[in-house]
Amino acid sequence: MARKNFIIAIDGFSSCGKSTVAKAIAKKLDFVFVDSGAMYRAVTLYFLRNKVDCKDSNAVNAALTDIHIDFVPNPDRTEIILNGEDVSEEIRLMEVSANVSEVSAIKEVRVAMVAQQQKLGKRRNIVMDGRDIGTTVFPDANLKIFMTANPNVRAERRFAELTAKGEQVTMEEIKANLAHRDHIDSTRAESPLRQAEDAIVLDNSNLTQEQQLAFVMEEYSKRA
Ligand code: C5P
Repeated sequence: MARKNFIIAIDGFSSCGKSTVAKAIAKKLDFVFVDSGAMYRAVTLYFLRNKVDCKDSNAVNAALTDIHIDFVPNPDRTEIILNGEDVSEEIRLMEVSANVSEVSAIKEVRVAMVAQQQKLGKRRNIVMDGRDIGTTVFPDANLKIFMTANPNVRAERRFAELTAKGEQVTMEEIKANLAHRDHIDSTRAESPLRQAEDAIVLDNSNLTQEQQLAFVMEEYSKRA
């Protein structure tokens, strides 16, 4: 029997503008938006603060039972709450970006996050962005988009985003971080980043946000 709720999965490389498109679509369609990367970032922040050793599975499991992540939607942005604390800003810092792919590659971490993500998609119309949404989290999503963009365009976008927030970073650091995350995300054993066979590719290197929204809306209309 066909599912009553509609799921849009948006996957792709780091800093391709997935969240921007996902948010715009969710707003337009009045769907719930979930940034799955923010969940992995919140886990990473917890690991950094509590010096959890990624190689110690007892420590990882103990940490996971102590981690509670919530999303609080606000008109201008969705807050990410880690154990009662709003960490929306802190999870975007370079220190978290530098460690998030190692933490996300841990099997126990993925099992815990995927279970939470699947729960969020029950009986709700949802747009979720990440790396494995169309392949692992919702393999039967109604619409799957795989986003890519030229690496220089991606680095420039990330640089503008971080420096606007006052973070001291160089273009070289950003490029190295993006390449590092792409490599680990695509080569890890547990649900690596890859394009689902039935995903539609959206290369947004030269597209405005309006053009990207129009592209996804057209694909949505074909399936709704
Ligand atoms: O989307 P964002 O760049 O914020 O994600 C941060 C990191 O979280 C990624 O580089 C990846 O290592 C991890 N991630 C993941 N699976 C997802 C979403 C994010 O492994 N579904």
